[in-house]
Amino acid sequence: MPGHATLGVMGGGQLGRMFVHAAQAMGYRTAVLDPDSASPAGLVSHQHVRTAYADADGLAALIESADAITTEFENVPAVALRALAERRPVAPSGDVVAICQDRAAEKAHFVAAGVACAPYAVIETAEQLAAVPDALLPGILKTARLGYDGKGQIGVATREELIAAWALLGQVPCVLEQRLALHLELSVIVARGADGALVNFPVQQNLHRDGILAVTQVPAPDVSPALAEEAARCAGQIAAQMGYVGVLCVEFFVVRTESGLRLVANEMAPRPHNSGHYTIDACDVSQFELQVRTLTALPLVAPRLHSPCVMLNLLGDLWFDAEGRERTPCWDAVLALPGTHLHLYGKASARPGRKMGHLTLTGASLATVRATALRVCSLLG
Ligand code: ADP
Ligand code: MG
Repeated sequence: MPGHATLGVMGGGQLGRMFVHAAQAMGYRTAVLDPDSASPAGLVSHQHVRTAYADADGLAALIESADAITTEFENVPAVALRALAERRPVAPSGDVVAICQDRAAEKAHFVAAGVACAPYAVIETAEQLAAVPDALLPGILKTARLGYDGKGQIGVATREELIAAWALLGQVPCVLEQRLALHLELSVIVARGADGALVNFPVQQNLHRDGILAVTQVPAPDVSPALAEEAARCAGQIAAQMGYVGVLCVEFFVVRTESGLRLVANEMAPRPHNSGHYTIDACDVSQFELQVRTLTALPLVAPRLHSPCVMLNLLGDLWFDAEGRERTPCWDAVLALPGTHLHLYGKASARPGRKMGHLTLTGASLATVRATALRVCSLLG
């Protein structure tokens, strides 16, 4: 119960840090397992077990400390989660995380749940490479495992490019997806309890730059209520079909077809998601609090958006001027604007493309907030 237990998290990145913040706000103690002594979550947790994720001593130490354990990233070895689950409640389970770790398994799951995904082929052998249908080109070749923020992906227009791209990716198992003309991108976060209770956050509209999330807007300005409802229903189906317990984010593409706009599931994350960071400042319960609640079997309540908002990701690029000299972004000017909420993840060094923090902008209407977002962008340069 809140005030007594210790909650453990595998992984010490910013998602773990915000989970720790939410757990501590409710009176839980926390334990983080992450090899990095300066990990964002390790820095703020009561305890920090500094070992590799599959290290037997590290896992034993986490079991010793924590009454229930979750994960903040999908690439935790599924075997580690299964080992933890022998001794402690673990949510989400190693089995569902294993599905989310592999793009081929993930797409097969979407299909099994009755949700459309982009036409694709699995490429694990030279024979499968040769048998790829022409209709998948131009396409995007993605490594089946370990891709994130656009990494492990190569756009290919021809068979020659496909062969070269697979070689460049080391001939590891891949998925080739047809390149779709995206009308827009959205995502939905659901939380599902062990008793099957299911709640969802409002649908988010997302803008990516170079494969990395840049901007999230809520309410989604270009999504009809019917499409938003369908996205939430599909995400719920995807969660329920695999008996999911925890917070799950499903990313969708919206494509234009002759019969209107259609949803296509892209990928899912078995954890809170970057596109849900706005929930901390704009909803009456955050995605991280729902992660705590699903882990501890506390009641789930339907989240309510209380402010229209725009979330801007703060990448390491902002920490460098045009000449490449390091600088500190002008937070004082940004925070002088009404409705700006700054979140920095405590990372010691900035690198281009590295997620250093985010800003949530809230206001009375989405139009006001978007105007603030434009001012913030011009201030940050
Ligand atoms: P990541 O794990 O890096 O987030 P995604 O599969 O979500 O990988 O791809 C990142 C971005 O690349 C997507 O948000 C989208 O903008 C673009 N993208 C990915 N797949 C496709 C596709 N089949 N057609 C068009 N754009 C795509
Ligand atoms: Mg993605």
